Amino acid sequence: MYRFFVPAECIRNEAVVIRGGPAHQIRDVLRLKAGDRVAVLDDSGCEYEVTLDQVSRGTASGRICSKRDIAEPGTEVVLYQSLLKGTRFEFVLQKCTEVGVCGFVPVACERSLARYPDDKKMERWRRIITEASEQSGRGKLPRLQPAVSFRQACQSVQGPSLIACVGGVATGLRSILRSRPLTADRGDYAKVNLFIGPEGGFSPSELEFASTCGVSAVGLGNRVLRAETAGLVAAAAILYESGDLEPGPPLGNGEA
Ligand code: SAH
Repeated sequence: MYRFFVPAECIRNEAVVIRGGPAHQIRDVLRLKAGDRVAVLDDSGCEYEVTLDQVSRGTASGRICSKRDIAEPGTEVVLYQSLLKGTRFEFVLQKCTEVGVCGFVPVACERSLARYPDDKKMERWRRIITEASEQSGRGKLPRLQPAVSFRQACQSVQGPSLIACVGGVATGLRSILRSRPLTADRGDYAKVNLFIGPEGGFSPSELEFASTCGVSAVGLGNRVLRAETAGLVAAAAILYESGDLEPGPPLGNGEA
């Protein structure tokens, strides 16, 4: 079934009114008609199955026929991804949304080759996250925060934070995760901030600064991953380790 995120105010009791992009998709792209069913999400973690009763230019309306909760990952991975050239940042947003990342912070690093995103680019990135969330069946949209400098990012993080660095003596991801199990019932480890560097990597002074802010260096193995691959690999490994790649509700809410 086709899924659409809509603003919460579009859902009133049992009635749903869909406007804008999703209404255009329904009528002009998918050519759905009254009587067809779609799934509508309001970013609350709840999915509503809706039977369309009217499809017109710019508006589609319908009635809710059922409702279900969608399990979001029990571990919140927030990806602090360096800005990247070309469409690589978009790739990161799309794939990491699919795998279960809960938030993105674009970070300007010393060696970042890309500039700060303007409003138009942020809007485009939000759309990519929304479409990936609809495709992959997320119940809540991953948050895209405004771009910040590397130093601002390090100073503002709260909770367990990891910075992936190539070579050196960084502890492996599995060792770090197993030494501090990521279970949602231990509130402090239900969230991980993950820093991934630009194409040229982090500078030595950035790694030193991160360490003074309590961000732990982590290795992802002996192969050098591209900047757009590393976050996806690390996020998938963290979610695997926390049990969030198992089917069913997230583990660790007192039920595991
Ligand atoms: N030439 C750069 C490579 C950067 S790869 C260098 O030698 O540093 C881009 C980013 O991906 C890195 O900054 C790091 O955050 C992450 N990354 C890639 N491979 C990794 C690995 N094997 N271990 C840890 N981090 C890795």
